[in-house]
Parts: sequence; C-alpha cells; structure tokens
Amino acid sequence: MYIVGITGGIGSGKTTVAKLFEAYNIPVYYADIEAKKLMNNDSNIKNKLIAVFGNTTYLDNQLNRVYLAKIVFNDKAKLAQLNSIVHPEVRKHFLLWASSQNAPFVLKENAILYESEDAANCDSVILVTAPKQVKIKRVMLRDNCSKTEVLARMNNQWTDDKKAQLADFTIINTELTETIRQVEKTYQKIKLKLK
Ligand code: ATP
Repeated sequence: MYIVGITGGIGSGKTTVAKLFEAYNIPVYYADIEAKKLMNNDSNIKNKLIAVFGNTTYLDNQLNRVYLAKIVFNDKAKLAQLNSIVHPEVRKHFLLWASSQNAPFVLKENAILYESEDAANCDSVILVTAPKQVKIKRVMLRDNCSKTEVLARMNNQWTDDKKAQLADFTIINTELTETIRQVEKTYQKIKLKLK
C-alpha cells in the first residue's frame, strides 16, 4: 500500500485537509487518536508505561493524561522513553490497518511526522501550512486556551520552513475554497505518481 504522510504544525489544518481527502474515499489514519486508544486499551503498552512511570499512569483503568503530560512536557529524556514505548506499537497498528484498506493510497495524519522520524515510513509527505498568527488564533478559538499555551506547544514542533524542505507537497490552508482546490490538485498528482 502506498503511504502518504500528512503533517503540519498545530492549528495548520491538517485534520481539515485530511477530511477533504476522505471525500475522495482516501482512508485516513489519525495517528494521535489511534495512539490515545492504544494507550488506553493495549495491555502491552499499559504494562510498559506503568513499569516506567508508575501506577498513577492509569486512574480507574484510564490513562492519566494530565499526570503523564506533566512528567514529559519539560523532560526530553522521559518524553523519549514514552515515545519509544508508544510509537512502535502505533506503527505496527497502522501497518495492519493499511494492509486492510482498499484504495489507491492511504493517508497517515501525524502532527510530529518529522519530529518522530515517522516520515521515513511514508512514500510521500504532504505538509499543511498557514501563517503563524492564523494558527495561533485558530487554536485559541478551538481549544479555548491562551496565546502562551499555544506558543508553548508550537515551540516543541519543527518550523514550517524546515519541514517544507523535506515535504513532497505543500498545501497552504488559509482560505478554505483555495484549500479544496489544492487538495484536488495534490490528489491528482499523487495518483499520477502511482501510475
Ligand atoms: P492540531 O495539530 O492542533 O490538532 P490541525 O492542524 O489538525 O490542528 P485542524 O484541527 O484541522 O488543525 O484546524 C484547527 C482549527 O482551525 C479548527 O477549528 C478548524 O475548524 C479551523 N480551520 C482549519 N482550516 C481552516 C480554514 N481554512 N479556514 C477557517 N478555519 C479553519
């Protein structure tokens, strides 16, 4: 199966763009959502997380996200440990999912596709961008949070410039009608690549 990664900074609109591809019957794997599900349900992941982060990692059998986020937010070594437990399982789960899809290609939506080195597992990558101020406004509105909180999250991600140098396609998502046009073009270009 041909795998197209779709990434972009927080608030760039990668989920919005991925949904537009779904309209072309392209299956989309939302890595963050699937990772959360696996962290809650996969006993292999659960046991490993408890071994590293302690029993407080789960409350009433549900992932204690606040506790875990507090530990890893300012500790790169702990974040790397968390990722080394979760990412390989998500990759396995994704490959199983991809192999059961019937489509010309599949999309894998991952906010940290480059940061987590997951781009190496993709055949092509689409980067979704928008101006920084637009992204900040969108996230503040969507998550009802402060500019400082958005900036803190942004600072953990690579810049658009760095990602654009590596991506195969870039979709600039500011005006939705223009985005729809770019999605159509990109969809056609990927199909051409497959021929
Ligand atoms: P995150 O990484 O934070 O999950 P994301 O890159 O997946 O973000 P979306 O969730 O798709 O981004 O979009 C962020 C917000 O901006 C959403 O509320 C969405 O409805 C809105 N949005 C996305 N694209 C546009 C657009 N072209 N015009 C107006 N609003 C948009």
